[in-house]
Amino acid sequence: MKPLLPLNEALEQLLANATCRLPGEPVLLEDALGRILAEDQHAVIDVPPADNSAMDGFALRASDAGRKLPVSARVAAGDAGSSLEQNSVARIFTGGEIPVGADAVVMQEDVHQAEGFAQLPRDVRAGQHIRRKGQDCRAGSLLLSRGRRLRPQDMGLLASQGIAQVPVFQKLTVALLSTGNELREPGSGALPSGAIFNSNRPMLFGLLSALGCKVLDLGIVRDTAVATREALLLGAGSADVIVSSGGVSVGEADHVRDAVEALGEIALWRIAIKPGKPFAFGHVASTPFIGLPGNPSSAFVTFLLLARPYLCKLQGREDATLMSRPARADFALTTPGSRQEFLRVSTSQRDGEIWATPYANQSSGVLSSLSASDALAVIPVGETVEQGQPLQIVSLDDLLQ
Ligand code: AMP
Ligand code: MG
Repeated sequence: MKPLLPLNEALEQLLANATCRLPGEPVLLEDALGRILAEDQHAVIDVPPADNSAMDGFALRASDAGRKLPVSARVAAGDAGSSLEQNSVARIFTGGEIPVGADAVVMQEDVHQAEGFAQLPRDVRAGQHIRRKGQDCRAGSLLLSRGRRLRPQDMGLLASQGIAQVPVFQKLTVALLSTGNELREPGSGALPSGAIFNSNRPMLFGLLSALGCKVLDLGIVRDTAVATREALLLGAGSADVIVSSGGVSVGEADHVRDAVEALGEIALWRIAIKPGKPFAFGHVASTPFIGLPGNPSSAFVTFLLLARPYLCKLQGREDATLMSRPARADFALTTPGSRQEFLRVSTSQRDGEIWATPYANQSSGVLSSLSASDALAVIPVGETVEQGQPLQIVSLDDLLQ
């Protein structure tokens, strides 16, 4: 058997051949959350469109500082532009357009007002409390780049430009297969002897949906060569990518790899990570195939580390790079491993630092380890860990975006 492939090499090979072939489609802004921009978006107008007041107060000429002047106008947000009479001030409210002639705003707290007159403070700087035209966005400037996954604040920014509709890539369709004779769907009654519930299906459904993919659920696939090939062909004919769980190990009931090889090719198999060694990647006819291990924790971790970056690239995303963060080990590891290890940890803040505490049972079949965790701690090959030692963690919340 070939030696296990290091994670970074596997990732490099995966991403080298990943290209987005999805057509674009227009969507209304309110439907754009989580979609991937298919074209750069530029500002069409200056925002704000005119100088306006940052305060409730009075608009004035800074050279009139210290004088007592009549209040000649009232300007609220939404009022059309006006001009300021000589030797007067204008009452103004936040967002109100600065009248032509005024060059500063004083806060109402700093003004003594009585019988239609305002006693102005002595210290007034020209330009104070004015939000300048175009200070947020200048017409023509780049707002958001192609390949960006749209967030709520991006939708607000586009709306501030009067943009009601944006071009996004069509959703990536992923065919999902759960292999295993032992699997039963929750809701199908009590478990017969030898059976377990299918936990990977809803978990992978959730992971794919969180990424913004359209999931085509092909259900449970029996552990036979024929059923496996049939399901793979169905997936290849109806989706952009196939994601399966289970059946990629070395057991006699593991038909997935042979079936993929019979219908296409396996390009990658067996990665030097723990959990998740049996991960496989290849093609069924020309449709990319991702084979996740069956153990739920392995399926989850390999999805996040390998399938996620690959699927993001296929979706047209350019902003999916993952940040690891520094933390301290609230544990010790005395035996060095031969694979890069991803411990399921929960984090807490103490003395201004993040501490990582591993879940007690790190077995790849133990799904409660993931529900109890909020990060993965990265342990390099051949290294031990001392209590309090710095290490890198990856937040599960970051990975689910
Ligand atoms: P496999 O990779 O098919 O050899 O499966 C490895 C382990 O994961 C076995 O104990 C399986 O029963 C379990 N397993 C496989 N698929 C699932 C699934 N969809 N849900 C829960 N456990 C699974
Ligand atoms: Mg199996």
